Amino acid sequence: MTNSDDRKLGMNRNNTRRDFLNGVAVGTGGAMASSVLPDSAWQSLAPAGAAQDQPGYYPPALTRMRGSHAGSFEAAHGVRDGKFPARGASANDTKETYDLVVVGGGISGLAAAYFWRAKDPNARILILDNHDDFGGHAKRNEFHSNGRMLLANGGTWAIESPFPYSKVARGLMDELGIDPEGLAKKSYRREVYKNLGNAVFFDKQTFGADRLVTHAPGGWTGGGSVDEWRAFLEKSPITSEIQKDILRLETESVDYLPKLNSDQKKDQLSRMSYKSYLLNVAKIHPGAIPYYQTRTHGLFGVGIDAVPALDCWVLMQPGFKGLGLAAGPHPRMGYTPMGFASPKEPYEFHFPDGNATIARMLVRKMIPAAAPGHDAEDIVTAKFGYSQLDKIDSPVRIRLGSIVVAVHHQGEPANSKQVDVTYLRDGQLSTVHGKNVIMACWNMMIPYLCPELPDKQKEALHYGVKVPLVYTAVAIRNWVPFQKLGIQNVAAPGMYHYQMQLDLCVDIGGYESPKHPDEPIVVRLERTPCLPGLSERDQHRAGRGDLLSTSFETFERNIRDQFARVLGDGGFDPARDITAITVNRWPHGYAYEYNYLFDPEWPAGESPCEIGRKRFGRIAIANSDAGAAAYTDQAMDQAWRAVEELHSA
Ligand SMILES: Cc1cc2nc3c(=O)[nH]c(=O)nc-3n(C[C@H](O)[C@H](O)[C@H](O)COP(=O)(O)OP(=O)(O)OC[C@H]3O[C@@H](n4cnc5c(N)ncnc54)[C@H](O)[C@@H]3O)c2cc1C
Repeated sequence: MTNSDDRKLGMNRNNTRRDFLNGVAVGTGGAMASSVLPDSAWQSLAPAGAAQDQPGYYPPALTRMRGSHAGSFEAAHGVRDGKFPARGASANDTKETYDLVVVGGGISGLAAAYFWRAKDPNARILILDNHDDFGGHAKRNEFHSNGRMLLANGGTWAIESPFPYSKVARGLMDELGIDPEGLAKKSYRREVYKNLGNAVFFDKQTFGADRLVTHAPGGWTGGGSVDEWRAFLEKSPITSEIQKDILRLETESVDYLPKLNSDQKKDQLSRMSYKSYLLNVAKIHPGAIPYYQTRTHGLFGVGIDAVPALDCWVLMQPGFKGLGLAAGPHPRMGYTPMGFASPKEPYEFHFPDGNATIARMLVRKMIPAAAPGHDAEDIVTAKFGYSQLDKIDSPVRIRLGSIVVAVHHQGEPANSKQVDVTYLRDGQLSTVHGKNVIMACWNMMIPYLCPELPDKQKEALHYGVKVPLVYTAVAIRNWVPFQKLGIQNVAAPGMYHYQMQLDLCVDIGGYESPKHPDEPIVVRLERTPCLPGLSERDQHRAGRGDLLSTSFETFERNIRDQFARVLGDGGFDPARDITAITVNRWPHGYAYEYNYLFDPEWPAGESPCEIGRKRFGRIAIANSDAGAAAYTDQAMDQAWRAVEELHSA
């Protein structure tokens, strides 16, 4: 991929080397679990105190490889491979008993704890999470440059959903004091980028020459006049034959399926990929496919070879204007397009650290000593005291760096009064007890943790394959090159990261986004590894393997190379201008949403997520996986359902 040498790229610079924070190496203990060890061996690995209680512990400020960071997942693979003592045998019994133990400290797990306390204000709750920070995918990246704080989302980007937030999810947002529309009106500073637009970077390996072409018509979702398209395409390195077909597809209104009515067309479009539609129905030149291939990566984690054409119609991709399709959803649409197909009132907001703010607000509500303040604005700059999260006298406790390896009822599940939950932390296996347990972790882990579940349920929990994704945040000295080139967003369909952009400009509470090009800023990039040609789930498996086997150094080299090539004409020098890199790697990212090119149409109640989420004794199942829908409102709704199931059992 790279075409510049390491020295020029700045690989020799030491400015992104921060594995340790104030001498505390965070969350590395779990990496040691490679075999079934005797009791004494686990204990000999235990350190003097929990990392989260040490002074200076502040994971949002860590850089380099984040997301599924080293130490957070190796033990899970050990559980899968049968390398732990069965039923948590040989674990140290902490003798702690809670009304509720929650496995997973993402938004679903935190919401479950919150809902539980609302029903039972005296309840004592323990939340266990394998990462060094709470929030699950909703993580915060925090950079400090020239004395100012720069924020980015490490995962979950915004409050947004294809369907309206339910009464439960909206009620929770109201209780937290989050009013998305009000915040958007008050905080967005769209005028700051008013002279910056969209561009496409055509790379040499895919399109024959490196070229940044600005003034991309209509962004990624249609629009643009014939003249605009012509001017844009003429500057690209694409051959004139291919340009002609792109121009035709983008600007003409042709009914490519004239013999069918709207319903028949929709049905047919749901049974072919968008790639197949472009090639075989719209009959565009195969050389145009690389230009469109990654259009669907952001929402689906796979390219247009594995996404139904019908879904791409809803997402306003080109080629459908002349078909005369009736507005509205169709039963054979995926979750996301089906929701977007129906008009809904706007309910969206992007905090500078994404939905990490929701996670932080939930934590502050339940553990007020963890952070000062009281509203959705002051939370943004509030400094969290991680040492407050697991205090013995706190009714709600959050124990980080603690990966659950076994969950078992005492006695028969149907009559059991207690569940043993065993977790590994810093090499030590410990067991706590819960009168109730909510598994707010990832579906595919649950059968390994709860082997006593019925086989049909375990099979269903294994069905979905989470979407692997990378959100990279790169802090740079200033954004003069973006200003000079007149760009805010760059689509780079052939590059390592298929997209890079300056984040929305948001001023909220005491936080001010950079406004002048001379100021430091964070650039967001996205990468979704996949293997075109396979089924969606197999592509995700391949992408996951890719992510877990790629070193930070490889990411860094590709990132620096991409910045040099895309922004070079604007004077960007990666060796000089990059000040920090955080690669938020999510091998297990979005919840898997069903894709009717590959998945059957299950009767109501029979889809894998519905079978998989059934309550089992005192154990209920939350997480967005339980809704087969990768959105924060689903994480909340599933938490509510799990709480209700246990309360009414
Ligand atoms: C990169 C990215 C961007 C996204 N952007 C958006 C967006 O803009 N808007 C939106 O609505 N949604 C977005 N999502 C979807 C996101 O998944 C949900 O919105 C929501 O954050 C999911 O919350 P959750 O609690 O269900 O799952 P998670 O956030 O995945 O939390 C589950 C937690 O359980 C932990 N866990 C797993 N196994 C164990 C174990 N054995 N022991 C202990 N802990 C365990 C996990 O590590 C994790 O911390 C995005 C997701 C990703 C990955």
